[in-house]
Parts: sequence; C-alpha cells; structure tokens
Amino acid sequence: METTELKHVVLVPYPFQGHITPMLQLGSILHAKGFSITIAHTKFNSPNPSNQPKFTFLPLSDNLDGYDTSFYNILNAISVMNKNCESSFEEYIVGMKGKVGCIIYDSIMKFVDVVANKLKLPTIVLRTTTAAYMQSHIVMFQLVAQKLIPLPVIWNTVETLDHCPLQQLQQHLQVPFFPIGPFHKMAPPLMPTTSLMEEDISCLSWLDKQAPNSVVYVSLGSMAIIDENELIEMARGLAKSEQPFLWVIRPSLLNNGSDDAITSLPEHLIQEKGLVVKWAPQKKVLAHSAVGGFFSHCGWNSTLESLCEGVPMICRPSFADQMVNARYLTHVWKVGLELENVDEKSVERGIRTVMVGEQGMEMRRRAVEMKQEVERSLIRGGSSYDSLNRLVDFIHSLEV
Ligand code: UDP
Repeated sequence: METTELKHVVLVPYPFQGHITPMLQLGSILHAKGFSITIAHTKFNSPNPSNQPKFTFLPLSDNLDGYDTSFYNILNAISVMNKNCESSFEEYIVGMKGKVGCIIYDSIMKFVDVVANKLKLPTIVLRTTTAAYMQSHIVMFQLVAQKLIPLPVIWNTVETLDHCPLQQLQQHLQVPFFPIGPFHKMAPPLMPTTSLMEEDISCLSWLDKQAPNSVVYVSLGSMAIIDENELIEMARGLAKSEQPFLWVIRPSLLNNGSDDAITSLPEHLIQEKGLVVKWAPQKKVLAHSAVGGFFSHCGWNSTLESLCEGVPMICRPSFADQMVNARYLTHVWKVGLELENVDEKSVERGIRTVMVGEQGMEMRRRAVEMKQEVERSLIRGGSSYDSLNRLVDFIHSLEV
C-alpha cells in the first residue's frame, strides 16, 4: 500500500441500535485520525448513509426480508444473518483489491472472521459492553484456552470505570486492549445522529420549562420489552411520585405484538406531569439541566451516556449485560438504585429516593464526581486519550 494513501478500515456493526451507534462513533473517531472508513452493514436495520457522508456504505445480502427478527427469535436471526452475509462480504472485500488495511467487527458478526482468515486480513474486535460483563462469562476463558479468541480488542469503556476487570482480562487474554470510550465523547462533536428512529426533539423545549434536576427521564432502550401490566404500574408509580417525567414509549415496547404501545397507556396518568415520546434525542436529554434521574434498562450505551452527564439512575435491567451494569451502578459506583419489583409502590418509592431523598443526593454527588473522572480520561494524558493514540499506531503497524 502507498504510504501517502489513507489507510482503509472496514467496520461491520451488529444491526441493532445499541451496537450500530458505538460502531459509527468509532468510525468518526478513526476518520478524524486520518483513516478512510467503509461500513459493511446488513440491509435489515440499515444505518442511513446520508447521515454519514464521509463514510462509504456497503449493504450486505442478509436475506432477512420477512424473517422473524423479534426479541424472542433473536438467536436464530443472528445465526441466519451470519450464514447469509458471508458471501456478499467476501465479494466486497475481494473487490476492494488489496486496499483494506484492517477490519473491525462487532463480536457477534462472526462471518467476518471467516472471510478475513480466508483472505489473510488483520481484524480487531469491537466489544460494545464493559470488560466486567465479559469477565462474567467464565466460558470466555475456555475459548481462550482453545485459542478461539486471539484477537486485539477495542472497548467502549473507560479505565476508571472498568479498571479491575480490564486488568484481569488483559492478563488472561494476552492480546492488545484499547479501552477508548466513551465513544460518544471521543467522536467529533458535530457527528450526525446514528438513530434508526426519528428523534422527537420537541421534548427539549418541554424540558426548558422544567425546574433544574426535577425531571425523571424514562427509557428502556431499543430492544427490551415489557408486558402491559408493567407499563400501567410504571405509569401509576410515575404519577404518584409527583415528579415531572419524560417517558420514551417506542412503538414495539410491549410483548403482546402491538406496534403502538402508547395506546395502552391510560391518558389521565400522564396528563399533568408527563410527556411521552416515541423516541428521544437521548444524549441531549441527559445533558439537559432539568433532568435529575434516569429510569433505565441499563444498556451499556445508556449507562455511559448517563454517567457522562452525572445523572443518577433508577435501574430496571432486562437481559444480558444490563444485569451486570445495574449491579455496578448500584453496588460499585453507587450512583443508582435497582428496583426489586416494577409495581406502582416500588416505582414511586424508587423515584422519590433518587430524586428527592438524601440517598439520592449522595448518588448525584458521586455521579458528578464520576462525570469529572471520565472527562479527565478524555484529555491529553488521560487513559482513553492515550489508548486511542496506541490504537491508531497499532492499525498503522498492521501488515496486510
Ligand atoms: N436512544 C435514543 N433515544 C431513545 C432511546 C434510546 O437515542 O429514545 C439511544 C440511546 O442514547 C443509546 C441507544 O439508543 O445510545 C440504546 O443503547 P443501549 O446500549 O442503552 O440499549 P439497547 O437499546 O442496546 O438495549
């Protein structure tokens, strides 16, 4: 490869919001460091190429049209996607005629490794969770013993948040680690939206009218589903707490197959204090001075976004790494409270504790301290800043 030519990095995201966002953010971070970026993506949940004009987009033939990609069938969908995407990915990479300097892929997109091995191209894995979550998978160590995880790893995490797990995993895995998160703070500030759904920005002017630290922001992310009874108990608890609330009820939130969850909500429970939207500009909402607490499913992106703004959390984890994140929020970082049950009383009590109780004040104080710690990791001499420079040198050093 000519030394004057930009080094070309191909990124392959897993096609769900909580994975697409960090991969596109990583693309922006690397683009700002002088790499040329191509995104190879499934047609299912395709990112919008016009939002990221600096990247090249390659749609993969996933053949998922009409396939059940709902929450309950997700493991089957992953396996079908891995099988179907392989050949079009290989064709694209071969067509790039030796221009690919490195492929970075979400750990779920296993077909990438098959193709890269065949074409002898270097790869790096992106892990969109904490090191603590990976460490909780004892099985990983068996995979390491079988030499199935020999790859360098980029993490969307921060040394200061994930220090012990990162150190212990590093000892076991013996591969380069690059903890360069939080990606959304490392990415250039004017990076366009990565949302698959349209953001309802009208909630920002509603927030402008609320008192500082008074609003509970409620969102269970892009995938978690709940039953109708829980939705109603949440609504009652929110109304009883007497705090203003901004609630994201995405159309597919209910487990009954309804595609308009908002219609199940008794209107009188939200009229006075609440605003309900289908999808919010979450990072801007969490950064707004009116928001004083985040009722969350504790997905890793949401957790990082909340920590970065010093907002304490009311935790209602649902699956996968959300359980570990909730445990860290409540027991290690002590900036959150986990709800044991989601009934009217527990929701009301949880909200009051975090928003107006003494325990909540202490959580807020710690959350602000953590925000400052994370900010220090981003500037010259900070851990994420230094890791990013190491990653850039590492990619440049890869031989194709
Ligand atoms: N998000 C958003 N608007 C919403 C709800 C969520 O922009 O109304 C974004 C949020 O900022 C985060 C992502 O969706 O970046 C959700 O990712 P997370 O890892 O928290 O959870 P997942 O959706 O993967 O379960």
